[in-house]
Amino acid sequence: MALIIPVSQVECQKKSWKTSLKEAISDPGQLLSLLDLSPEQLDYELDLVNDFNLRVPLPFIKKMKQGDPNDPLLLQVISQAKENNIIAGYDDDPLLEQGSQQPGLLHKYHGRVLLVLASACAINCRYCFRRHFPYQGELASGKQLQASIDYIASTPSITEVILSGGDPLIVSDNYLKQLIEKLEQIPHLKRLRIHTRLPIVIPSRITPSLSQILSNNRLKTSMVLHINHPNEIDHVLATNLKPLVQTGIQLLNQSVLLKGINDDISILSKLSEKLFECNILPYYLHQLDKVKGAAHFSVDDSRAKKLFQAMRDSLPGYLVPRLAREEAGKHAKTLIF
Ligand SMILES: *Cc1c(COP(=O)(O)O)cnc(C)c1O
Ligand code: SF4
Repeated sequence: MALIIPVSQVECQKKSWKTSLKEAISDPGQLLSLLDLSPEQLDYELDLVNDFNLRVPLPFIKKMKQGDPNDPLLLQVISQAKENNIIAGYDDDPLLEQGSQQPGLLHKYHGRVLLVLASACAINCRYCFRRHFPYQGELASGKQLQASIDYIASTPSITEVILSGGDPLIVSDNYLKQLIEKLEQIPHLKRLRIHTRLPIVIPSRITPSLSQILSNNRLKTSMVLHINHPNEIDHVLATNLKPLVQTGIQLLNQSVLLKGINDDISILSKLSEKLFECNILPYYLHQLDKVKGAAHFSVDDSRAKKLFQAMRDSLPGYLVPRLAREEAGKHAKTLIF
């Protein structure tokens, strides 16, 4: 077993993001030790051999509370035995995305196209709707990436490219630079968007060169961060995001409503307020996609609506995210009122 260094002593933020990526923890026992927890303290049973393995980088572990088996960040990553329960309505591919027409490209929203740049993420979130995604055949790489670029170039109705994954920021700055250089030459493209959770789990991913690449092109660029709980936001993240804001990149946030993690009005309000302090606007509060293994995170619609109404009653309108769900085959998210 690897030597365990207490997480408080790890100088997470000074490391390069690639080192933090390599050092991500994948052993549940090691994660618990870092948090000063023993399996007996948990009121849930662990799954030590899940196909969708545990994966969490040290800077994210650092934001968890020591000794708390129900820490809201820990619960997003710890693999539990109850994920193996078979629950009706929870499937491998809830959004029917597998077997898309062009590998690495999803054109399901009007005017917007998703480029699936990477198969991996820095973190494995237990609620992830792509946890069973057979990425090998669905990646935008090499010739396939060129074919996707050709498709975008020959489809004038596409005005926005959304970099997706996995986590698109897991690719190198140089790869992103070359891709964006190609995209900005397509005259009908106006906007570039990046959906990512990487800066939350490894804030050093926002390198000066990344800020430069994202701002030094003619496309109006936004970054949709995926933050679920206010404890995920700390001063390190706030500081690292500043260069992006200063170069005019619009920051938005998309959360997933998760039972036992953020299904609480005071947590959701605090999240919105902390987001705004970092210049991030709350964009979507997403109902869980019904993926196999994630049923225990589900919040029913009536409760979701009550939470949404409570946010509307207590927050300025611009701090209330849209409550929405994704439905297979639909060309836009469905708003829930
Ligand atoms: C919803 C969504 C989109 C696109 O939908 P918008 O309504 O244009 O924001 C793109 N990527 C992800 C991951 C989404 O969840
Ligand atoms: S970062 Fe997003 S895509 Fe990656 S595992 Fe988490 S929810 Fe899934």
